[in-house]
Order: sequence, then structure tokens, then C-alpha cells
Amino acid sequence: MDYRAVLEEVAAYARPYVGQGQVADYIPALERVSPDRFGIAVADIHGAVYGVGDWEVPFSVQSISKAFSLALVMAQSHGSQGGNGTYGANGVQGGPGGDDIWQRVGREPSGTPFNSLVQLEAENGIPRNPFINAGALVVTDRLQTLTGDASTSMLHFLREESGNPDLAFDQAVADSEAEHGDRNAALAHFMASFGNLENPVPSVIQHYFWQCSIEMSCRDLAVAGGFLARHGLRADGSRLLEAREAKRINAVMLTCGTYDAAGEFAYRVGLPAKSGVGGGIIAVIPGRCTLCVWSPALDARGNSVAGAAALDHFTTLTGWSVF
Ligand code: GLU
Repeated sequence: MDYRAVLEEVAAYARPYVGQGQVADYIPALERVSPDRFGIAVADIHGAVYGVGDWEVPFSVQSISKAFSLALVMAQSHGSQGGNGTYGANGVQGGPGGDDIWQRVGREPSGTPFNSLVQLEAENGIPRNPFINAGALVVTDRLQTLTGDASTSMLHFLREESGNPDLAFDQAVADSEAEHGDRNAALAHFMASFGNLENPVPSVIQHYFWQCSIEMSCRDLAVAGGFLARHGLRADGSRLLEAREAKRINAVMLTCGTYDAAGEFAYRVGLPAKSGVGGGIIAVIPGRCTLCVWSPALDARGNSVAGAAALDHFTTLTGWSVF
């Protein structure tokens, strides 16, 4: 496969879509990003990385972090994270025998917006899935318990998996999220009232905002997500997740990873994917490669317009969807 040629063709196809839609404007720090950006990267399972356009420009990962926090909780829970085991800020590894995050969060599409409160009351404070905000807050809460510092653990994890030691939080984005964080605070308090948080609400939402604020490029994200294409193996061959755990994360990405449009996304693209309101989308072709595309203008559901078009064209050209 001549990845570079395919990416060039995908970028040409996506070009008319770049700038269509709206850049996220719920916080000023995101609103300032130019809608004209477009980049795409592919990291194959053997370590080769290819990209075109703005593929090395860092952007706010936002909800893409939810896929990585889930992976990290699963890895920490059984203690087989591989590598040097330094992700936990306080060295806590999680006990053997597993810890079942799935007691506290479901794995069904929600059919409601990512920050909706409505289902939580009827479903006793158990969020539908780990990729809506309520579910991600539960995962962050668990990570906080397992590591003592959820957001720093996540940053270390992403630096290690991406091979980029310069990854950092964007303090302005994190502060801005906190200033406009009433909805997330409400979700967290509501779940706490059902006994579904282990840590104090202010700490859980603060770590959640920090993890959303991490800046990464398409290159960084495609490389960092390599373990999802390698059935749980990290780039150096050590095991981060059991193959069945990587399968499960990919499955939840397929059914719940692109907001309230996962059905449409599966129909068009046919890959496990996680999007964020920064305009990034990470997508996995198990056994082959991990992709990341970025273009900041979003459709009404919160997915990058040009990003979805690019992934649609990628799977059409290559025939590499999971179907
Ligand atoms: N930090 C954002 C929020 O919680 C994430 C939005 C997103 O990317 O879905 O509202």
C-alpha cells in the first residue's frame, strides 16, 4: 500500500469540505483555531508513519482523550500495562484479578447528546457508555483512584505511546473548560449522589478538563493509538491490553465514539473511531493501522466535517473498513 499516495488523494477529496461547519465555540480558547486546517496521518502496525497537510500541528484532543483514559483504566486495572510501569503518578498499579469499570458505566449508544443529563436519572447514575461526558467522568474518577493523579498519568501515558516527550496540557483550554464547566459539574454531582464517584467532584472534573486540554498532532495520536490496531500490543511489543480488551475498546468506539452520529459514521466509514470537538478523529483498522485526521470545523453533532469525509474516502479507496 502506498500510504502517501492514498493520503494525498484523500486530502484532495476532502479539500472542498474543509471549513464547512463550525469551529467549536463553547470556550474562547477553541474558537480561535482556524477552520482552514486539515491534516491526516496513518501509523501502520510496524511503526511506519505517513502524513499530509497539517499532520504535525498540535490541536486540542478534547474527547479523543476518552478512548485513551478507558484504555489506561483497563491496563491499570489488571496491572499488565507493559513497559516500565511509570504511568501512575504515585506508582499504584491496580490490583490483580481485574477491576470492573463496566459495573459503573454501560456500553450502549446513548442516543442523546454527549453532555446530556436526562438518562442519568432514569438509569440510577450509571452512564450509558464511557464516551459520553458522564461516562468519561466515571472513567477519570477510576483512573484517579488507581493512579492518584489521573491527568498526569494520562499525559505520561500519551507521551510514552506517541514517542513525543513534549506533549503538554494547554492551561488556557483547561482553565476555560473549568470556567464554563457547569454542565460537567452537574453530571458529576448527579452521579456522586448515586454513589457512582469515588473521588470528590472538584478533583474529578479538574482532571477531566486537563485530560481534554492535552495538545497532540495527527501524527502523535495515530502513533499513540497503535495498540488498538495491534490487538493490545505497544510499539515495542510489550502488552498494554489483552487482545479481548483492545477488541472491546474498538467495539465501543464503533458504536459510541462519534457522538450521537455513530450509526451514520459506521455507515459511511465503517471503522472504530473517536472524535473530539477540537476537530480531531482517531480511527482504527485492526491488524493494519491507526489513522488520525484533523480539521476544526464541525457538523451539528460535533464531528469534523472534512475529517469524516476524509475517512469515508480512505475506506472507500482502500476497501479497509471492518465490514
Ligand atoms: N471538554 C469538552 C466537554 O467536556 C469535551 C467535548 C468533546 O470533545 O466532546 O464539554
